[in-house]
Amino acid sequence: MAHDLELIQVGKTYPDGTVAVSDFDLKVEKGEFVAFLGPSGCGKSTTLRMIAGFEDITNGQILIQGRDVSTIPPEKRPTSMIFQNYALFPHMTVRQNIAFGLDIKGMAKAEKDSKVDRILDMFDLTEFADRRADRLSGGQRQRIALARGLVVEPEILLLDEPLGALDANLRRIIQNELKLLQRELGITFVFVTHAQSEALGLSDRVVVMSNGIVEQISHPKELYRRPASPFVAEFIGSNTIIKGTPQPGDATGLAQLNTPLGVIRGHGPADADMAVIPAEAFRITPAGAPGELRFDGTVTNKSLIGSVGHIRVRLADQREIEVETHADTDAAQALVPGAPITLGVDPVSVTLIHS
Ligand code: ADP
Repeated sequence: MAHDLELIQVGKTYPDGTVAVSDFDLKVEKGEFVAFLGPSGCGKSTTLRMIAGFEDITNGQILIQGRDVSTIPPEKRPTSMIFQNYALFPHMTVRQNIAFGLDIKGMAKAEKDSKVDRILDMFDLTEFADRRADRLSGGQRQRIALARGLVVEPEILLLDEPLGALDANLRRIIQNELKLLQRELGITFVFVTHAQSEALGLSDRVVVMSNGIVEQISHPKELYRRPASPFVAEFIGSNTIIKGTPQPGDATGLAQLNTPLGVIRGHGPADADMAVIPAEAFRITPAGAPGELRFDGTVTNKSLIGSVGHIRVRLADQREIEVETHADTDAAQALVPGAPITLGVDPVSVTLIHS
């Protein structure tokens, strides 16, 4: 069966010559929750707007359920878009705002009213139906925007930083609601955010972008465990990145790198020249265990936040790294700035990539 959404070599160059997106390939299954994650200006919104049809594509193709929609106007695509500022009409009532998309389609009044009533009920907005949109709280406005996007029964809901305007508490609540709603409806969601925690917490897969290019498309855990590029290794989590020269692999099938900190083994191609070690892969160990990588250094700082200890360590080459450990272990408690420390790392948790 065709994918719900497919981007084939999609690119966008704006008339002023800005290359916003290049060679974007993506296949999304029905009912998947996909996040586009990356720093401001990396091309997330442009890509979303191209899927919605608000922006022409310069290269490639966009397919929805197997149909090429590249030249179809937005209102004829089976997509709905939710904007960061919600784009509600302030002087219109909640009901009028929600009915807007159905009005555009020219839907008959009886059918329209019944659809709007149903969605008002679903979002607990019935009691506010006749209130003006500008007389409501941020959270309520967010719900109206969602209701308005969903009332047209899209195949794909596109969300452009939809939680950006909410305070942290409300953000968390609506994140949960959004996730439940998406599961319940089984609609494909494509969600744009620059907030790591949001992308990693909400989505089935994350597309990490930088400078208009797709860096990695993975399950959130995989982005932590196996970053595929230097950008992802820097951007996601807290990794130690060490450059080196490739060596013939070891007997266990791991690749090896010669580095200023000794030989580092890990998962990756034989010609990789960069090791990535997650902060939580380091173990504080008095002597080092057989088979583990070993790093000697000096503690420069320690902060215990809840159950997590954040230790900063200066290694032999003078670089400072971040180590995460359980705060309540004796080893973590005993550390003081200036103390020598030995760190062990299981090479299986090291990823080797190309710089
Ligand atoms: P993001 O959503 O990741 O913040 P955008 O897709 O908004 O990024 O922008 C990607 C790049 O395209 C940026 O360099 C931005 O300045 C540029 N850009 C966005 N819209 C336009 C436009 N209408 N004309 C020219 N350049 C644009």
